[in-house]
Amino acid sequence: MASELEPEVQGLDRSLLECSAEETAGKWLQATDLTREVNQHLAYYVPKIYCRGPNPFPQKEDMLAHQVLLGPMEWYLCGEDPELGFSKLEQTNKPSHLCGRVFKVGEPTYSCRDCAVDPTCVLCMECFLGSIHRDHRYRMTTSGGGGFCDCGDTEAWKEGPYCQKHELNSSEIEEEEDPLVHLSEDVIARTYNIFAIMFRYAVEILTWEKESELPPDLEMVEKSDTYYCMLFNDEVHTYEQVIYTLQKAVNCTQKEAIGFATTVDRDGRRSVRYGDFQYCEQAKSVIVRNTSRQTKPLKVQVMHSSIVAHQNFGLKLLSWLGSIIGYSDGLRRILCQVGLQEGPNGENSSLVDRLMLSDSKLWKGARSVYHQLFMSSLLMDLKYKKLFAVRFAKNYERLQSDYVTDDHDREFSVADLSVQIFTVPSLARMLITEENLMTIIIKTFMDHLRHRDAQGRFQFERYTALQAFKFRRVQSLILDLKYVLISKPTEWSDDLRQKFLEGFDAFLELLKCMQGMDPVTRQVGQHIEMEPEWEAAFTLQMKLTHVISMMQDWCALDEKVLIEAYKKCLAVLTQCHGGFTDGEQPVTLSICGHSVETIRYCVSKEKVSIHLPVSRLLAGLHVLVSKSEVAYKFPELLPLSELSPPMLIEHPLRCLVLCAQVHAGMWRRNGFSLVNQIYYYHNVKCRREMFDKDIVMLQTGVSMMDPNHFLMIMLSRFELHQIFSTPDYGKKISSETTHKDLVQQNNTLIEEMLYLIIMLVGERFSPGVGQVNATDEIKREIIHQLSIKPMAHSELVKSLPEDENKETGMESVIEAVAHFKKPGLTGRGMYELKPECAKEFNLYFYHFSRAEQSKAEEAQRKLKRQNKEDTALPPPVLPPFCPLFASLVNILQSDVMLLIMRTVLQWTVEHNGHVWSESMLQRVLHLIGMALQEEKQHLENVMEEHVVTFTFTQKISKPGEAPNNSPSILAMLETLQNAPYLEVHKDMIRWILKTFNAIKKIRESSSTSPVAETEGTIMEESSRDKDKAERKRKAEIARLRREKIMAQMSEMQRHFIDENKELFQQTLELDASISAVLDNSPMVSDMTLTALGPAQTRVPEQRQFVTCILCQEEQEVKVESRAMVLAAFVQRSTVLSKNRSKFIQDPEKYDPLFMHPDLSCGTHTGSCGHIMHAHCWQRYFDSVQAKEQRRQQRLRLHTSYDVENGEFLCPLCECLSNTVIPLLLPPRNIFNRLHFSDQPNLTQWIRTISQQIKALQVLRKEENTPNTALSRNLENVDELQFPEGFRPDFHPKNPYSESIKEMLTTFGTATYKVGLKVHPNEEDPRVPIMCWGSCAYTIQSIERILSDEDKPLFSPLPCRLDDCLRSLTRFAAAHWTVASLSVVQGHFCKLFASLVPGDNHGDLPCILDIDMFHLLVGLVLAFPALQCQDFSGISLGTGDLHIFHLVTMAHIIQILLTSCTEENGMDQENASGEEELAVLALYKTLHQYTGSALKEMHSGWHLLRNVRAGIMPFLRCSALFFHYLNGVPSPPEIQASGTSHFEHLCNYLSLPNNFICLFQENKEIMKLLIESWCHNIEVKRYLEGERDAISYPRGSNKLIDLPEDYSSLINQASNFSCPKSGGDKSRAPTLCLVCGTLLCSQSYCCQTELEGEDVGACTAHTYSCGSGVGIFLRVRECQVLFLAGKTKGCFYSPPYLDDYGETDQGLRRGNPLHLCRERFKKIQKLWHQHSITEEIGHAQEANQTLVGIDWQHL
Ligand SMILES: [Zn+2]
Ligand SMILES: [Zn+2]
Ligand SMILES: [Zn+2]
Ligand SMILES: [Zn+2]
Ligand SMILES: [Zn+2]
Ligand SMILES: [Zn+2]
Ligand SMILES: [Zn+2]
Repeated sequence: MASELEPEVQGLDRSLLECSAEETAGKWLQATDLTREVNQHLAYYVPKIYCRGPNPFPQKEDMLAHQVLLGPMEWYLCGEDPELGFSKLEQTNKPSHLCGRVFKVGEPTYSCRDCAVDPTCVLCMECFLGSIHRDHRYRMTTSGGGGFCDCGDTEAWKEGPYCQKHELNSSEIEEEEDPLVHLSEDVIARTYNIFAIMFRYAVEILTWEKESELPPDLEMVEKSDTYYCMLFNDEVHTYEQVIYTLQKAVNCTQKEAIGFATTVDRDGRRSVRYGDFQYCEQAKSVIVRNTSRQTKPLKVQVMHSSIVAHQNFGLKLLSWLGSIIGYSDGLRRILCQVGLQEGPNGENSSLVDRLMLSDSKLWKGARSVYHQLFMSSLLMDLKYKKLFAVRFAKNYERLQSDYVTDDHDREFSVADLSVQIFTVPSLARMLITEENLMTIIIKTFMDHLRHRDAQGRFQFERYTALQAFKFRRVQSLILDLKYVLISKPTEWSDDLRQKFLEGFDAFLELLKCMQGMDPVTRQVGQHIEMEPEWEAAFTLQMKLTHVISMMQDWCALDEKVLIEAYKKCLAVLTQCHGGFTDGEQPVTLSICGHSVETIRYCVSKEKVSIHLPVSRLLAGLHVLVSKSEVAYKFPELLPLSELSPPMLIEHPLRCLVLCAQVHAGMWRRNGFSLVNQIYYYHNVKCRREMFDKDIVMLQTGVSMMDPNHFLMIMLSRFELHQIFSTPDYGKKISSETTHKDLVQQNNTLIEEMLYLIIMLVGERFSPGVGQVNATDEIKREIIHQLSIKPMAHSELVKSLPEDENKETGMESVIEAVAHFKKPGLTGRGMYELKPECAKEFNLYFYHFSRAEQSKAEEAQRKLKRQNKEDTALPPPVLPPFCPLFASLVNILQSDVMLLIMRTVLQWTVEHNGHVWSESMLQRVLHLIGMALQEEKQHLENVMEEHVVTFTFTQKISKPGEAPNNSPSILAMLETLQNAPYLEVHKDMIRWILKTFNAIKKIRESSSTSPVAETEGTIMEESSRDKDKAERKRKAEIARLRREKIMAQMSEMQRHFIDENKELFQQTLELDASISAVLDNSPMVSDMTLTALGPAQTRVPEQRQFVTCILCQEEQEVKVESRAMVLAAFVQRSTVLSKNRSKFIQDPEKYDPLFMHPDLSCGTHTGSCGHIMHAHCWQRYFDSVQAKEQRRQQRLRLHTSYDVENGEFLCPLCECLSNTVIPLLLPPRNIFNRLHFSDQPNLTQWIRTISQQIKALQVLRKEENTPNTALSRNLENVDELQFPEGFRPDFHPKNPYSESIKEMLTTFGTATYKVGLKVHPNEEDPRVPIMCWGSCAYTIQSIERILSDEDKPLFSPLPCRLDDCLRSLTRFAAAHWTVASLSVVQGHFCKLFASLVPGDNHGDLPCILDIDMFHLLVGLVLAFPALQCQDFSGISLGTGDLHIFHLVTMAHIIQILLTSCTEENGMDQENASGEEELAVLALYKTLHQYTGSALKEMHSGWHLLRNVRAGIMPFLRCSALFFHYLNGVPSPPEIQASGTSHFEHLCNYLSLPNNFICLFQENKEIMKLLIESWCHNIEVKRYLEGERDAISYPRGSNKLIDLPEDYSSLINQASNFSCPKSGGDKSRAPTLCLVCGTLLCSQSYCCQTELEGEDVGACTAHTYSCGSGVGIFLRVRECQVLFLAGKTKGCFYSPPYLDDYGETDQGLRRGNPLHLCRERFKKIQKLWHQHSITEEIGHAQEANQTLVGIDWQHL
């Protein structure tokens, strides 16, 4: 099909290109019927440009559209060349002072917590940085897309509405100037014409619903049979379903299907097939059939190609309009006018209306285009914003209903624009008064929740899935209501009052439907069968919480409104409880001579509901009334007399009793749903408008009635009336033993009731209840939270209720009550309660959960003990009640209360059986304490002539009345003081008695000053008390001492374990033995230590004993004994790499013999240092393997380690390992058989070795030459003169035991396998090279770490590192014994030839391209293979020394060639030292050999300095290497930190201090060598600037620099678009911390194939950047990601902290985040130490859920 169409497309292009914009515009200017003319133009051209086939060419389309379609419009509009015209418009424009920048997805937005009117007011980054708010408290979030910057909107900010940029214009703003005055009449007329036509065209075509027929004025003459099969997005089907279906339906590859699905998801639709009708119809039916099984099918339409073309152009047109109006505010106004102009069909017929009303029928892409246009036009024009708001409000109901039935997310719905409109205070107010918006929103909401029970209450019980879905969507209306209410009016008009109260009425109707919903009945006998649905009701309550609070806030602002609202609310409550006494027989209760009438109702038997929003709203309003003093000024206006206190308290009391009964275990059979409801009832998210208000309602009730009556009703509802009205209940019960459970239950109920009374009296911290302000309230909350334990900022925030602006008000008071403690390297910053605040602690604080209460009690008692105070926690002094609540305190001295107290004390004194409990007593004591505090306060604050009516002390001194004649409360307390079973409560009882006496004193001397009181108390302390105090003090001292010792011990223990984690249970012997000898041996300490060469310091042989961690057996390390091994982990590494673009392309062909100085692909070996027998390890590994196989069959689970790849966890420390290193003695000692005296110098040695090599090469050739050349063979043998003493036929015997040999091979093969990523092959000649390489690379990386941390080279290394390096070096040195001799010899020859050129070695790298340390290690470790056949008397040590000298000299030349370019111009005193002259001479020689290509240098000082600096890392590495190789202890000088130790290093390495001497001593041979090095073509190219070379010293690699402010990272990432899907914003932009690349992670678009598997961008990146290991920052999440291989990964805490020392993973809190350098360094250190993989392993072991994540898709 496509090929047939191709020529047509090309043919058409020419005719299109000939169409001139100017001419067309000219024609239009002349036209009489412009609309017809333009439509004809579009009808002809649009289908020719857009969508000419299956694959659209967006760029070509855009180009043509601009030329043929938009061009004429621009010409027409300007009346001249648009380039000129538009720039003129721009110049005359007075731009708006609004920023209006529309946010991209992921872009950072800022809201000022001090100045924003509400949290939806945000700034773009640019505006924010230029505003005053950057120094305020702000919140940073990332935009979900949509929405715009509010900079310049004076209504959005209390202060600083303009940033610097937008302020420039603000000075010129004259009130509401008409922007049209800047345009000429002509332009206005033409703009109006063209905008009207184009806007209407776009609206018409986008809302067009026919599939194969165009609007009549666009219909084409000839219509082709070309159709699109168009697939639409829905939120029902998953990506995978769509991809699968498409593959089936249109026969495409998975890749194509992914492409389709991605576009459908993004744009909302995509054509998946192009062709004739039949062809498309067929695809459609397959798709529909395939997706209709479970859910509704995917939406597919077969559309005629010309319709699609016009629609695409329609979208283009809207974007074009958006950009055109950017030139001038005048144009914008015209567009607004056009858009809002009513059409011929009257109401709702304007273009804007039409678009809004068909919103839910449009696809995503079309919606977002026109929403954007609305935002940049209607919402940017102050006049039209208002008109648009009215249109929006008028259509509100329709729009919301459309949205509720639509399935797209809210952000894609026009309904979402409500946030832009309703949050503007003036608009919201206008819409409330003029459009009755509040009522509309609430009514619309109610309309969507039609499911009610018989009483008209909401019922969610039997919701269908569809209803549940609708319920979820309709909740967004509550959000709208919140927006409308969020800014509170400062002035009230009568209109506003009326409309608000109308809205309030509607709101009460809504609450009425909630009052009593979801009632529960106690289940007895059987457990409930099905957990009833409870979440929906709570969701509703939770969402409404802020709205309810805001309604009250509004009421509080106007007394008239408050009074009206109060009346309305009361009326509705009365309606709700119309049936209050229905069917209930009234009963009369009586105790202590009081009697009251109430109804017979049992919570445990009848229905009870936790939802009482009407009662609670009334309680809230009552508090406001109390606060506003309306009640005292105009009591006649309030319906106080209509209040029936028993009715008010009834339902809240039932609810609280329900909680008590649940706690007492009476509702167990009702299941978890009830438990959950009660949890939320108290939870911080709900309690403000639930639990708190119930308490207030009871307080209101008590304050309005006789407290005795209240208590009696309460006793009755708690079903305890019987108990307290029966005089000898206690005795009766204790004699019966059958009712144990029931007694227990009643005890809990009594405890709960006492707790409730404590709360009613004690909770007076809400303004209006007590005489406090909002600050006191929040302070008290914080004090009680911090009494539990010190808390981090975020923890504290979570425990406090947030208001509608997401503020807790905490910041303003926290300083007053707490100290801040900064965080360390881990953990978070903490707030600690100030000690002076502890006295405000109330054990019965009503927001404590039970667990919190007991924790707080414990913590506070401990604190008191530490301060050596008595441990009583008496009630704190409370603020006075507000007058309306003042009478409440009398409950404490009411007869019934005293009866309850006396009864409980009586039970305690009798101390029999189960009738009383300690909690019960504790509560009674607390209540007595409260009463005493109250009385004391009254006495202290009493006015002259007043009499204090609170006489609790008198009442408790009186004995009980007949008939039981019990002793007085006071007497009982005195008795209990000595009761042995009340040890814990003694302090409290003593406190009560003390306070009682103090009050007595005050009463007695009521005229004297209260100072006497304190003295009096002290005097009161009897001698007995003193005695006791002394004993106590001593006991306390002893206890403290004990505690201190314990603490020290556990500290020591912890310290020990920390330090010796690796060492624990390990080979202490090994280290101890060595170090002991070193320390004591006089031989070693007195002389200069030399690590290599003939003069090497002899080290006495040490026997080493080690213990196997598996079988605990001890064994000596010996050449011939069973192998001992260390667990080890080999990994590829790019940590030292200087060239990240380089990686091994084809491992099978890769030759690792020479390491390039860029160190691009290294192999690192690490170990935890734990030692095992080789055979024990083998057994362990086999069992791990077997277990893993079984587990995989069973569970198909992953583990943190990959057994198939040889991975296992160290059996002791669980450190990830993948092989083992054998433990060996210094191998050199074994082969250094003889002690030679006469050794060759370097020149002689080189000559000898060269001869030997030559001999070998000839010999090798012989062997490889088949028999045919046998004759020549003979000649050659003659020719061949073996150097003296060289016996190439000699093959040394391997000294190692079989088991050691096996382990040598095992580790060698593992290094080869991992390092090259190939299949294991122990025969491969590259095995030994990889071993040497790993040894060299590991030493280099450790040297880097030490040097970066400024640690001396031989500072005591951690054991594990020390052990690892020793074993690794010795292993590498011994490995040749298990390799083929000739292979190793071959390697040696080649390595040697790179410095000493011989014949036969063609392709050797030039010395610029060799890492000299790798070369040194290779040469030294391969040398024994040659030396073992040399019987001429040259020792191994001599060879080592000469190799070392030779390589060092080569390195010096390398440095001189590459690293001595800087001369600084600073001339140091010329011609000074001998060394400087020598190095200058050497440089001159080089200059000469390079044909003067080398830059001239004159300062020997600089040269020397450069060489020394350049060679230092090499010398340090060499020292480590020879130290571990030969076991010569390090000189003590190098162990100290400080100077660079250059000389000590030289001595240790047997190198002259003036190393230029080396060249002078071996002048001749060096001359030849240097010449040959310099003549290499690569050196020439380098010197001529044709190539680069590494210079020395190589700098350390660092992780990239991160910005100080996290939001600049977010901004950077928001500008980043997916590299694969053409400019789309990436959803999970992720930053590689190693190289700084931004990646599009976790997304289909950027998956690539790696080793036959699809992997995400991050995993793919690790393979090139970190050879499998990666460190990333997920920018949107603010989370560090570690990856290793395809299956391993973990998240790590990010290096960004907020001001409270906390990280914000997921960016949920939005506090500004700043870089914490220490934490970032820690991550870098993990990387440098090659510990990322290990870290992942530990994280995965600790958290198994990490194992299940598909890391490779990130
Ligand atoms: Zn802005
Ligand atoms: Zn601005
Ligand atoms: Zn501010
Ligand atoms: Zn063992
Ligand atoms: Zn271990
Ligand atoms: Zn990278
Ligand atoms: Zn992508």
